[in-house]
Amino acid sequence: MKTTDKIYVAGHNGMVGSAIVRRLREAGFANIVTRSSAELNLTRQAEVEQFFSEEKPDYVFLAAAKVGGILANNTFRGQFIYENLMIQNNVIHQAHVSNVKKLMFLGSSCIYPKMAPQPLKEEYLLTGLLEPTNEPYAIAKIAGIKLCDSYRSQYGSNFISVMPTNLYGPNDNYNIQNSHVLPALIHKIHLAKTQQDPAVVVWGTGTPKREFLYVDDMADACVFLMQGYDEPGLINIGTGEDISIAELAMLVREIIGYEGRVEWDTSKPDGTPRKLMDVSKLNSLGWKAKIGLKEGIQKAYRDFLQGKHIRA
Ligand code: GDP
Repeated sequence: MKTTDKIYVAGHNGMVGSAIVRRLREAGFANIVTRSSAELNLTRQAEVEQFFSEEKPDYVFLAAAKVGGILANNTFRGQFIYENLMIQNNVIHQAHVSNVKKLMFLGSSCIYPKMAPQPLKEEYLLTGLLEPTNEPYAIAKIAGIKLCDSYRSQYGSNFISVMPTNLYGPNDNYNIQNSHVLPALIHKIHLAKTQQDPAVVVWGTGTPKREFLYVDDMADACVFLMQGYDEPGLINIGTGEDISIAELAMLVREIIGYEGRVEWDTSKPDGTPRKLMDVSKLNSLGWKAKIGLKEGIQKAYRDFLQGKHIRA
């Protein structure tokens, strides 16, 4: 990738897309093309076709997706499968038609079977049943991986797929109902502290374990892989370490300085018991996460305090 190459970052207003744009600019890439969802609706084939024929990007980061936490995935099941399939089909196909040099498709750790051995190795894809709460989203993401691989094998397209673990950081969605667990905990515990509530209610049993990667580390890994990794299949991006939701709640409580109790709402789903990425493939290429969980949550909390991050 040369600094003069035209790079399209799809989803540049989202948490991951905006971090990729920041990282690219920092690394000297100046020819970055973006469109807001109001300017270009990626679920519409004709609009995407027109965009690619006008702009002819050299590289594409496909970070546009319909995303959300466990409740959003489980509630808006139709929207999660439809919108993600449409966005990725349109962008990946038009990237092929317009002969881009390379495309990176961003997936998720939920593509792995619910009961897969831990840590999750790339080869566990399609070896078992998925977690039901996010199955529609995961099926769309698996279709995206297979679309990239099929275009590579039929047309020789250099399309790669990366699977990040749970991400957090600036521009996250802090909506208490729809967001992922970490931004939800930051928001809920912050509210409990400012309202002097004696307790905060957290979902599930607290026993599931999750791995969290700060989004600037994710963006750094994406730019790194776009520059030097050209293989079919998928590659995990994570820290290689996980934490239980109960421990996470206590850590956020400590960082925010809240002294009330944590109570559990077990009517809410736990989801997959554990989702820890095996990152030995990525580490062997020379990349490792740099921002630790405590430091990352402190940064995210500062960002939350400054921003207007609550999206519907
Ligand atoms: P997942 O990784 O796909 O399961 O998605 P989430 O990040 O939404 O949830 C991770 C885990 O955190 C699940 O076990 C949830 O039950 C638990 N959790 C606890 N409190 C919350 C909350 O307020 N919001 C969300 N989204 N999850 C929560």
